[in-house]
Amino acid sequence: MSVSLDTNKLKNYINGKWVEVKETTSVFNPANGKKIVQVPLSNRESVNAAVSAAKNAQKEWALVPAPQRAQFLYRVGHLLEERKEHLSKLLTMENGKVIEEARGEVQEGIDMAFYMAGEGRRMFGQTTPAELKSKFAMSQRVPVGVVGIITPWNFPIAIATWKSFPAIVAGNAVVWKPASETPIMAYELAKIFEEAGLPKGVINVVFGSGATVGNAMVHHDDIRVISFTGSNDVGRNIAADCGRQLKKVSLEMGGKNAVIVMDDADLDLAVEGILWSAYGTSGQRCTACSRVIVHEAVKEQLEKKLLVKMKELTIGNGLDENIKVGPIINQAGMNKIKDYIEIGKKEGARLVEGGYELSGSGFEGGFFFAPTLFTDAKPDMRIAQEEIFGPVVSLIPVQSLEEAIEVNNGVSFGLSSSIFTQDVNRVFQAQRDLDTGIVYVNAGTTGAEIHLPFGGTKGTGNGHRDSGVQALDVFTEWKAVYVDYSGKLQRAQIDVD
Ligand code: NAP
Repeated sequence: MSVSLDTNKLKNYINGKWVEVKETTSVFNPANGKKIVQVPLSNRESVNAAVSAAKNAQKEWALVPAPQRAQFLYRVGHLLEERKEHLSKLLTMENGKVIEEARGEVQEGIDMAFYMAGEGRRMFGQTTPAELKSKFAMSQRVPVGVVGIITPWNFPIAIATWKSFPAIVAGNAVVWKPASETPIMAYELAKIFEEAGLPKGVINVVFGSGATVGNAMVHHDDIRVISFTGSNDVGRNIAADCGRQLKKVSLEMGGKNAVIVMDDADLDLAVEGILWSAYGTSGQRCTACSRVIVHEAVKEQLEKKLLVKMKELTIGNGLDENIKVGPIINQAGMNKIKDYIEIGKKEGARLVEGGYELSGSGFEGGFFFAPTLFTDAKPDMRIAQEEIFGPVVSLIPVQSLEEAIEVNNGVSFGLSSSIFTQDVNRVFQAQRDLDTGIVYVNAGTTGAEIHLPFGGTKGTGNGHRDSGVQALDVFTEWKAVYVDYSGKLQRAQIDVD
């Protein structure tokens, strides 16, 4: 299966024009180390140009009725649909995830386009009784202005659509900095916006490093909101910088997600769920399962079944339809995983499968790591507390549902959790007590649908949500409007009968 890009050098997309940048860097395919494309290393001036274009465009854009703004998103959705296969292959080439998952990710973008386009005819405010006679009261959503979005490499198109589509339909203009490892999806999406006829300046893409481009966006006075998805270290610093400027910031960050397997669970189903959510995207999902909290009565059985199925996982270049696990994104990701293997061993967890980098035939030039299982891990071990972002799972035995929930909640993150059980009482107790933004029952820790809120509690975020109608809260302000048609001055709280 082959795929090619229509250029060997990407350009920024600013004010509806493709702008060349002198300084560039190379992007490599993580499955084979081959160079794919040159990408701009933009500077602060590029950010300034993009923000100024967005600021000009936003004034007009905000006046376009929302149902008409939505028409552009419908067109974007149709273009994404037409190009789904091509985009999926490019996504696999730059990010490494297997083609089946890449198709799923592009589909998420398509779904988001149509869902958010629908918001153009909803975007509900409220009408409410006024306390005085002949007076009308309502509240409505209004755009915030220019918004900055900063996205990670692990979902290079889906997350961009989660953020840019609600921002645009709500009447904002966008400056987007994609992750350095995965600029191609940004280039392709910008082309689609252009072909859909989105007015110039409503979306602007600036390629470059987080330290330069991302930082300049965070500190730009005319950017009113930063919507960030990425690691906790970077997110915390962005939040502190935004806090000092009283700039609204939405953060979606890491996870340490667990699958709970109770003694009454369908173990074969649980194994399927664990495999998919732990080793899919090579464990490089924010919702990846990296802990399995298992009732001790079924621990041996589950472990045996899991080991059998892990050995069946095919590993290699994700463009091959038969491959189930693709590469790690880069050398830094690989080093981090290897460090955690050593940490886990030192902490006394038992390594029963994997734990090494793969080399030789089929893996030349790429970053491949064997699906890995530690067992008999303790909840407070670092491998059971910290985000590894690789195909590494720690199995933690427990004695009861209450203990399982306590272990699940005993981490600094709160993104996703899951429970396998046949008992309806346990289901409801778990969904009430699991302290995560997303809970799955009899499914793994991944598989969000775009019309529900996506995000987490505690160290995973700062209370905002991507996706769902809640995404609009990030990109709008509330305005309360009072219309007095009594023809006289009526003072609230005072002239009430
Ligand atoms: P990252 O290193 O934090 O990078 C995320 C984005 O921030 C990139 O575009 C990066 O640019 C940029 N950035 C880096 N330093 C910056 C700075 N000082 N100022 C402004 N922007 C800066 O994260 P990643 O490695 O790409 O992504 C993996 C992480 O994302 C994991 O922790 C994962 O759990 C999390 N994630 C969370 C969710 C969620 O919804 N909760 C979803 C997906 C991923 P460069 O690429 O140029 O460094």
